[in-house]
Order: sequence, then structure tokens, then C-alpha cells
Amino acid sequence: MPSLKKIAVLTSGGDAPGMNAAVRAVTRGALARGWEVFAVRNGYAGLLANELDPLAARDVGGIIQAGGTVLGSARCPEFAEPAGRTKALANLRGRGIEALVVIGGNGSQSGSASLAREGFAVLGVPSTIDNDLYGNDVSIGCDTAINITLEAIDRLRTTASSHQRAFAVETMGRNCGYIALMAGIAGGAEVIALPEHELQPADVAARLRAARERGKTHALAVIAEGAKCGVHELMDYYGAHRPSIGFDLRVTRLGHVVRGGAPTAADRVLATRLGAAAIAMLAEGRHGVLVGMVKGDIISTPLTEIAGRMRPADASLLELARTMAL
Ligand code: ATP
Repeated sequence: MPSLKKIAVLTSGGDAPGMNAAVRAVTRGALARGWEVFAVRNGYAGLLANELDPLAARDVGGIIQAGGTVLGSARCPEFAEPAGRTKALANLRGRGIEALVVIGGNGSQSGSASLAREGFAVLGVPSTIDNDLYGNDVSIGCDTAINITLEAIDRLRTTASSHQRAFAVETMGRNCGYIALMAGIAGGAEVIALPEHELQPADVAARLRAARERGKTHALAVIAEGAKCGVHELMDYYGAHRPSIGFDLRVTRLGHVVRGGAPTAADRVLATRLGAAAIAMLAEGRHGVLVGMVKGDIISTPLTEIAGRMRPADASLLELARTMAL
């Protein structure tokens, strides 16, 4: 596609800190090549509603430090249907747009794969706090979410130690335990429960009891939102077995707070590199791929290989966390 001139960019799925830095990188990378760039408002919903506006270099000024997405995002079930995509493609082609950059998570890149299968030039950029995308080590937004989660864990440790309590902290991440695993290791958690593993409330309680017996005066359990041991189940179990466990237990659910705020330097740099790499690939005539960073190198993976797959959590790190909880 050497004569590429007009592209569009959208952000889709849950917002993630660093999406704006990626929008800026895509926009300026394309403008620097003399291309025209259009912003699609509110993800795939805006594509269906034909909400597209031209983007100039100054339009993406002052956003690199901003959390969320200035383009807006939305969930759009209609786009997952063939009729919805036909409408979206008609709107893109109606404006002479030749390629689309999709900044988003697993579901959003399944949408990109569908567009690619239907013959449109699409480039995926991984951005989701869940970090569940195959073909990429760490998605844009994840580092910030881990750091916010860690700050909360550190604060809870202060109160836990003052009152000789245990705290269970529920982290975001859907069916992927990456945030819980990383924040749990960095926060020195006694227990980490991931969706990828079978830990039950009785197992978590047993580890808290064992920590008490080893002389710990407080303890932290980090529970991923998709874990089999949910915080409600843990509280129920605790209610029935409290005297034998030793610690009082309090629960904190962090929820959407971990999505907010300014992206970390790591997320801004990653977003800038991946956004620029997406444009470089389009310039070489490559599309239908997710641009990702694996072991420090920028790579591309066909979107059709990514759709429906998940990036697994590293079980050896869970073992490390357990050893360190000694
Ligand atoms: P996050 O996990 O961070 O919230 P995500 O990209 O996984 O991000 P989803 O809500 O799963 O978020 O997907 C975003 C949008 O992508 C959906 O609203 C829908 O429009 C589109 N989409 C999801 N799955 C598919 C699919 N299988 N085929 C086509 N489009 C899809």
C-alpha cells in the first residue's frame, strides 16, 4: 500500500492510561509522512454512527500525560455482527479512508481481526489494563494500573500492621491475573489468587492462618477479580471460620480507580513506540496485524492468530511470590 494517504484511528473497549499517548503517536507519525488522519469518536460505535473528524498535529497536543481517552470509547455489540461491520466499512470507504488503527484490548482486536478478514487494512495497538492480549508482553495502561494498585496495597499494609489485621484486596483485570500477580509480588502479599489457578477460599484462609502461625502480625491477600476465590466467598468462609484463622479480615475492592490518573513514563513510552511502529508498518504496506513488544523487540502478529486467545500468566512468578511470603 505505498500510496497510502488517509487513515483513521480509534480507541475501543475499557479506557486505559496511555491511550492518548498512542493516539498522539499514531497521528503525528502519520502526519509526518504527509498522510491525512481522522479521529473516530467512541470506538466502533462512532464508526457505525459516522462520527469522524480530521486530526491535526495540534489537536493531539497536551494529551500525552492525560489518562482515559480523548477520543472516547464505548462497548458496541452491533459491531460484532456482520451487518454492523458492513455499515462501518461503508462509512470508512465513503470518506476515502484506506486504513484503520485500533487501540484497544482483546475484544477490540477481535473486531480488528473481523475487519481484516473482510478485506480492510487494519493495524492493532494493544491497550488494556487487563494485559490479556496474545502477541504482546505488556499492554499500554497496564503499568499504570499496577502502580495504582500497588499504592493502594502499600496504604492498606500500614493500617493492617497497626491493627494486626489481614486485608484482602480485589484488583481489576477481568479473566487475567497479571495486575494481581505483579502488584502482589511488588506489595509483598502473603497470598495471590489468580483466575488462572484453582485457589479456593479455604486455601486462602489456610495461608493467612499459616502466616499468623509463622509470627506475622498482619497479612495481605491480593485477589484478582476473576479468581475462583472471590472476595465475597472469602468473607463468607471467614465468617464461619474466623476463630481458627487468627486475623480479623477486611476487604477492599479497588475497581475502576486503577484505570484513572496520569499514565506512567513506561506507559507513555510504550504507547509512543507502538503507535509509531503501527504507522511504520502501514507505510511498508503491512496490515492485518497487532503490533506488540515482546522481550523488548517490536514485533507483529497476525490479528487472526490473536482473536480468541489469551496471554497466560507466568506460573513460576506465583511460586516466587509464595517463597517470598515466608
Ligand atoms: P478491555 O478488556 O480493556 O475492556 P476490550 O477491547 O477487550 O478492552 P471489549 O468490551 O471486550 O473490550 O470489546 C470492545 C468492543 O470490541 C466491543 O464492544 C465490540 O464492539 C468489539 N468486539 C468485541 N468482540 C468482538 C468480536 N468477536 N468480533 C467483532 N467485534 C468485537
